[in-house]
Amino acid sequence: MFSNLQYCTRCCMPETQEGITFDELGICQACQSSEQKIHISWVDRENSLKSILEDAKAKAGNNYDCIIPISGGKDSTFQLHVLTQIYKMKPLAVTFSHNWFSKTGWYNLQNSLEKFNVDHIMFTPNRDLVNRIAKRSIDGIGDSCWHCHSGVGSFPLQIAVKFNIPLLVWGESVAEASGRASYVNPVRKFDREYFTKVSAKLQPSEMVCDYLSERDLFPFLLPTAEECEKAGIFGIHLGDYIFWDDERQTEFLVKHYDWKETQVEGTYKCYKSAECIMPGMHDFTCYLKRGFGRASYQASLDVRNGLLTQREGFELSETHDSVRPESLDYYLEITGMSEETFFEKMAQHRVKALQNTEIPVKSKTWKNRERILPYPQQIIEEFNNKP
Ligand SMILES: [Zn+2]
Repeated sequence: MFSNLQYCTRCCMPETQEGITFDELGICQACQSSEQKIHISWVDRENSLKSILEDAKAKAGNNYDCIIPISGGKDSTFQLHVLTQIYKMKPLAVTFSHNWFSKTGWYNLQNSLEKFNVDHIMFTPNRDLVNRIAKRSIDGIGDSCWHCHSGVGSFPLQIAVKFNIPLLVWGESVAEASGRASYVNPVRKFDREYFTKVSAKLQPSEMVCDYLSERDLFPFLLPTAEECEKAGIFGIHLGDYIFWDDERQTEFLVKHYDWKETQVEGTYKCYKSAECIMPGMHDFTCYLKRGFGRASYQASLDVRNGLLTQREGFELSETHDSVRPESLDYYLEITGMSEETFFEKMAQHRVKALQNTEIPVKSKTWKNRERILPYPQQIIEEFNNKP
């Protein structure tokens, strides 16, 4: 906790979270949303989901009924379950690969495709391009993951336009953990630039530099507004229509579909972002910029759900947020950046409220259970090291 920051009076989120607002009692929007969530008529919501899906099915003819953008993570596996098992939809699964798959994540993705029998398209930017964008990403947006933020927004839309499949179905509600929407006013209007605004921040053209050309960044372009309109593209978040419970969903997927958890750096939970080797790096940069990391964020969810007290939440943040992740080593290796330069660059992205504050960093004293090397490279290594 930083004594000069305002924190939500209920959970563990500080004023430095992007888009956060507090009411007159000092309660953040996400905490208010979690109250709303209990009073919503989920039966009515589920009925409207049913009619949206029925309508899409009726219009699809022999084409796919919808697109499910999937990462192999817990949310996307749950989306597949809901759409194929409960609503009997025929989705096209679409993956933008960050090319940073963890071994567990690769298993989860392949396992879900097998279990749900869905057709699948994946786009994977090449290794060298990913490395170069990761380097540029720190200067541009102060985290390592622009290619992923941008690609998960653009690739499913490109496929929607190319295959003429208007409906995209995402998972968690925007209201769940951010102040950008509430359950009373969910994000219903489709916004093709949503991911650019929320996470990628910069357009591909703004990422151009002496080692990245417009040609390199072509795969990250969104379809035009006209193309989206012509195809009638729209998207929904399942979490606005069915009661979203991360813990119960994870238990369910583990039990019924052999979905696997793994150790994720920077936190005490083992399911969110399990598909990637770099969340530790992403969340450490958030900590260096804004003074909180993944543990604060997830502890806040647990406080809202009554699983932790606020004090316990702060203790977990204290334990995890400030630990220097192993994935920083991988990042420095692929970008050729020195550790000193990395910390200098991060200091430039620090929010105003923390500019004169010391941000402590602890060293990590254990080895991560999930190996921090992209799984394709692990396979290559394994085959070539055989006697
Ligand atoms: Zn709160």
